[in-house]
Amino acid sequence: MDADRENGLAIVGGGPAGLAAAELLAESGKAVTVYERMPSVGRKLLIAGRGGLNLTHSEPLPDFLERYAPVDPRLKAAVADYPPDALRSWCEGLGQKTFVGSSGRVFPESFKASPLLRAWLARLGAQGVTIRTRHRLVGLEEDALSFETPEGPKVVRPRATLLALGGASWPRLGSDGAWVPLLEENGVAVASLRPANVGFRVAWTAHFAQRFAGEPLKRLAARIGAASARGEAIATEDGIEGGVIYALSRPIREAVERDGSAELTLDLRPDVDVAALAVRLSRGRPGESLSTRLRKAASLSPAAIGLLREAHANTLPTEPDALAAAIKAAPLRLLTPAPIARAISTAGGVVFAELDDRYMLRARPGLFLAGEMLDWEAPTGGYLLQAAFASGRAAAKGMLAWLDGQT
Ligand SMILES: Cc1cc2nc3c(=O)[nH]c(=O)nc-3n(C[C@H](O)[C@H](O)[C@H](O)COP(=O)(O)OP(=O)(O)OC[C@H]3O[C@@H](n4cnc5c(N)ncnc54)[C@H](O)[C@@H]3O)c2cc1C
Repeated sequence: MDADRENGLAIVGGGPAGLAAAELLAESGKAVTVYERMPSVGRKLLIAGRGGLNLTHSEPLPDFLERYAPVDPRLKAAVADYPPDALRSWCEGLGQKTFVGSSGRVFPESFKASPLLRAWLARLGAQGVTIRTRHRLVGLEEDALSFETPEGPKVVRPRATLLALGGASWPRLGSDGAWVPLLEENGVAVASLRPANVGFRVAWTAHFAQRFAGEPLKRLAARIGAASARGEAIATEDGIEGGVIYALSRPIREAVERDGSAELTLDLRPDVDVAALAVRLSRGRPGESLSTRLRKAASLSPAAIGLLREAHANTLPTEPDALAAAIKAAPLRLLTPAPIARAISTAGGVVFAELDDRYMLRARPGLFLAGEMLDWEAPTGGYLLQAAFASGRAAAKGMLAWLDGQT
C-alpha cells in the first residue's frame, strides 16, 4: 500500500496529458501522485521535440477545432477552454518563448522539448507532485490500482484516478496500448487502436525502390476524395511517408479499410496550372528525351519523374497537353498503413460515449481518462499535443468537480 498517498489522487501515465492534469490538481492544493511505467516521464514529448517541438497551431480556433475526428463536443470544449494561446503562455511561463513558423505551426524558440520538460518537472516537484516511475499499471479493481514495480506488486487506493496512458505508437517510449484489455474487462468500449499520421505501403517496381528509396519528393499536392494537402513526401523501399501523406492518412486509411487499397492523386507541379505547364512542355528541343523534357521544361526532380513513370506505367503520353495533365494528376495506389509502432499517433481509443462531461467513466465513478487514449485523431501541426494538454486539464477539472460533490 502506498501509505503516504492513501486517499490522495492518482494519475497513471506521465505524458503531457497526465502531467498537465497533475499540475492543475497540485495548483488546487491536492496531493497528487503520478505513476509511470518507464524510468522517466514524458518520453514521447521528448521524441516529439526531436524534429522541432510543434506545440500547437496559430490558426483561428473554429478552424483548429475542426481538425479533430471524431470531433466530440467534450474534446472541443476542452480545447476551447485551454486554447492554443493558453498553451503558448504556459510554455513561455516556463521560460521557453514560442514563435509561429511559416506554416502557422507554433514552436518553442529552442525547438526542443528537453528544456521545457526539465523546467516543468522542476515546477511540478516544487508544487509537491510525487512522481513514481517504474510503476506499471496491471490491474484496475473496483477501488484499487495494482502496479508492477521493481520492488514487487503494489496496490494503491486513491480517492480518484486519472488514466492518461497514451496510444500505441512508438511503444518503446512507454505507451503501448496494453491498457485496452484492462478497460475492456471493465466493460468499457474501446474503438480499435489504428495507426494515424503514418506512411503507407506502395508496390513500387524494383527499379524505383532501388533508385529512389530515401529521396524526398518536394512541393507536392495530393488528394483523395474531398481531402487534399500540400507538402513533402519521402519514398521508402516499400512505401511512401512524410507530411503530405500524414495529413491525408485518415481518409487514406479509411479507404484501405473499406476497399483494400486507396488511390491517391498527386499533383507533381501544384504551383503551375495545366495549360501553362503544357506550353512549357511544348517548347522542348527536337530529339530531346522525355526525361530531359520533364526535368528541364517541367522542372521535375529525378524522383518525381520516377514517380510519374510508376504512376502511369508504360502509358506516359508525350503530347504536351496530355503530359501536363499526367503530371498534375498522377495516380498512386496505396496499400496497408505502416505498423502502428511506426506511426506518429494513434486513432481509436476509449469512445467518448463512455465519458460524462467531466471526462469520468460513467460506469466507474472516480475514474477519469484523458489524452491520446481517447477516441480522437488529428493531423500533425500541433493538434495532438494541444488535445493532450487540454483534455488532461479538463479531466483534472472534472476530478475537482467530482470530489467537491463527494464531500
Ligand atoms: C515521433 C513523434 C513526433 C511527434 N511530434 C509531435 C509534434 O511535434 N506535435 C504534436 O502535437 N504531437 C506530436 N507527437 C504526438 C504527441 O507526442 C502525443 O500525441 C502526446 O505525447 C500524447 O500525450 P499523452 O499524454 O496522451 O500520451 P503519452 O505521451 O503517450 O504518455 C502516456 C504515458 O503513459 C505511460 N503508460 C502507458 N501505459 C502505462 C501503464 N500500464 N502504467 C503506467 N504508465 C503507463 C507511458 O509510458 C507514457 O509515459 C509526436 C509523436 C511521435 C511519436
